[in-house]
Amino acid sequence: MLTGKCQCGAIRYEASGDPIYSAVCHCADCRASTGAPLTGWALFPQDAVKIEGQPVLYKSSEHATRQFCGTCGTSLFYTNPVAFAGAIDILSATLDDPTAIPPQVHVQVAEALPWVAAMDGLPKFDRYPEG
Ligand SMILES: [Zn+2]
Ligand SMILES: [Zn+2]
Repeated sequence: MLTGKCQCGAIRYEASGDPIYSAVCHCADCRASTGAPLTGWALFPQDAVKIEGQPVLYKSSEHATRQFCGTCGTSLFYTNPVAFAGAIDILSATLDDPTAIPPQVHVQVAEALPWVAAMDGLPKFDRYPEG
């Protein structure tokens, strides 16, 4: 059983079993919704996920609904009955163990920010650099 929550804890969830798939998404809609350059997702059957609390719903395109915490703003879920019938996508970084579901693939790379591919080559600091 995997568990997760928004930053303030008003919305909590449990997911049982294995995800259908997991991915890092580079699309502009995910970017606009989360404020992050790319987002990790784990798709589960809807009936494998129990949600406590009331997320706010936002229809981000014709068939897509995004769900987030109205108190702290954490993005949590995505549903799309056309693309993912009977399933719910979970932002995998909101898991209590965010390492639990590593992504298997990159999707929507056609919309990726041009600098994302070069990120791994940038200088790295364990914390903020001095001075
Ligand atoms: Zn919250
Ligand atoms: Zn996306």
